[in-house]
Amino acid sequence: MENNTEMRTWLDEFKASKPLIIAGPCSAETEEQVMNIARQLKDSDVSIYRAGIWKPRTRPGGFEGVGAIGLKWLQKAKTETGLPMAIEVANATHVKLALEHDIDVLWIGARTTVNPFAVQEIADALAGTDKIVLIKNPVNPDLSLWLGGVERLYNAGIKKLGVIHRGFSTYEKTKYRNIPEWQLAIELHERFPDLPLIGDPSHITGRRDMIQEVAQQALNLNYDGLMIETHNDPEKAWSDAAQQVTPARLKEILSSLIVRKKTD
Ligand code: PEP
Ligand code: MN
Repeated sequence: MENNTEMRTWLDEFKASKPLIIAGPCSAETEEQVMNIARQLKDSDVSIYRAGIWKPRTRPGGFEGVGAIGLKWLQKAKTETGLPMAIEVANATHVKLALEHDIDVLWIGARTTVNPFAVQEIADALAGTDKIVLIKNPVNPDLSLWLGGVERLYNAGIKKLGVIHRGFSTYEKTKYRNIPEWQLAIELHERFPDLPLIGDPSHITGRRDMIQEVAQQALNLNYDGLMIETHNDPEKAWSDAAQQVTPARLKEILSSLIVRKKTD
């Protein structure tokens, strides 16, 4: 994979000089919830609406997502608000269904990036399409695995790419849910400066009271965008309740962030 400005031209569709903001619930729960949040995020600085339909849970027994029915809700939210829709895909069937339902942005989750077979299957299913694909870092701090995911998509002809930095899991207990290890994302950015870099303070912190601080740290490092989980009733969310913020709080956070001028 060579540096290629084609990888970042898609960003221009969404923003002028501001960071790209992707927001929406961790999980799509009901049609009403999807529509409620989308309506509140319309006419804000949010450019892309996210909602997980299939939720990869580390341990069984948690909410594993509403499944394909959620795609219909997202289509409705897109028609009503005009917001492009983003979902997580973890296999070729997910990709096929996402394509059939006109989902605009697909992201590969941290538990999928660790699996080259799964990433390759997704890359093959996407070959020949024009979709934007974002690759989260793997759960473990392995830069090659992260880059390998990007390369598999790039080699399949997917050129509208980006990476999401969501932090890394550790055995040690820290104030973070997933420690940032900023230097890893910076190294990736130095090697591929054309690859858009998006910070995910929600999954890095695991706590809504730290989102603002970590989002600002990402912007201080010149990240191109942020993904922030946003829910109409965060405390009652069916997944990741501790880290989601309300649309009102998201707007406050976004207006408090200081965006550095790019020097390059
Ligand atoms: C998510 O975005 O809700 C998610 C499951 O994230 P990750 O893959 O970073 O754990
Ligand atoms: Mn989540």
